Amino acid sequence: MIIVLKPNTTKEQLILLKTALEERFAVTVNTWTGVESTVLGLIGDTTAVDEDWVHAQEVVEKVRRVQEPYKKANRKFHPDNTVLTFPGGQTIGDGSFCLMAGPCSVESEEQICSIAAQVKEAGASFLRGGAFKPRTSPYSFQGLKGEGLDLLKAARRATGLPIVTEIMSASHIDMFENVDIIQVGARNMQNFELLKQLGKIRKPILLKRGLANTIEEWIMSAEYIMAGGNDQVILCERGIRTFETATRNTFDLSAIPVVKKLSHLPVIADPSHATGKAGLVPSMAMAALAAGADGLMIEVHNDPVHALSDGAQSLTPKQFAELAGRLQALKRAYDEIMAR
Ligand code: PEP
Ligand code: MN
Repeated sequence: MIIVLKPNTTKEQLILLKTALEERFAVTVNTWTGVESTVLGLIGDTTAVDEDWVHAQEVVEKVRRVQEPYKKANRKFHPDNTVLTFPGGQTIGDGSFCLMAGPCSVESEEQICSIAAQVKEAGASFLRGGAFKPRTSPYSFQGLKGEGLDLLKAARRATGLPIVTEIMSASHIDMFENVDIIQVGARNMQNFELLKQLGKIRKPILLKRGLANTIEEWIMSAEYIMAGGNDQVILCERGIRTFETATRNTFDLSAIPVVKKLSHLPVIADPSHATGKAGLVPSMAMAALAAGADGLMIEVHNDPVHALSDGAQSLTPKQFAELAGRLQALKRAYDEIMAR
């Protein structure tokens, strides 16, 4: 971190600030005195340096971070990719391409079990399904809650697919004990109390990007989970809010290579929520693969027209199978091209 001081800063003020910085944040402070102004360079672990505090000091003119404010999620301190492995042999982040598929909401045993069997057959390695649903309207279907979790487990027993499902409250963590990957939805990306509680458990967390959050804020949320000691975090790009209305969200495709460069955590993409339209899912899914994603989360419903949530963006099992086949071929071509 570099701090530029105001031109009229006295020597006494400089010493006071330097000592305060060293004592407060355990960093070493180097000083360069120029003709016009004095510049301080903070050396050491600056992740805990509170930029607001620095800005608030009277003699400070400008502050600039040269190092990212996150450490555990930072590729600089952990160059190798984080790889997650599951008891059934599934992996995420090892160069393979995983498919998580299933309905937006778990609706019934028959629905979830039949979709699970079909997406497995098509090549999915994880089953998604919402039991607790974050809906814009309190009058919309809120999910089957605990019963939905039980139905997901029934589908796992029938297919062997690990299950991914969203948590909405820290008070529900015990109910999620038997879930394979806990999803934090876009709306809860900055629910810091929830993130802190998820940091205390040892279970993979799929952290979706917030509707209106920067990449740095998103990685900082992963840092919250990791700071608690849980380093199994998967990031999921699911589109952000922009002025564009032709799609449900704007799919920030470039976030995939940006995050992969900044962090060692696996990054997957969700073209279903990113576009909101089933017809756009296949092309965006393929684009995400080409952008370097470690996998995809895709909504699949046996009867999209009658789905209790997100029917318009859900693929039928048949459409999903077609896409999965194309993705397999594209992945082979991608690996071959990248190895050249
Ligand atoms: C979901 O996965 O069904 C969901 C609600 O996603 P998001 O948090 O990305 O909106
Ligand atoms: Mn959904």
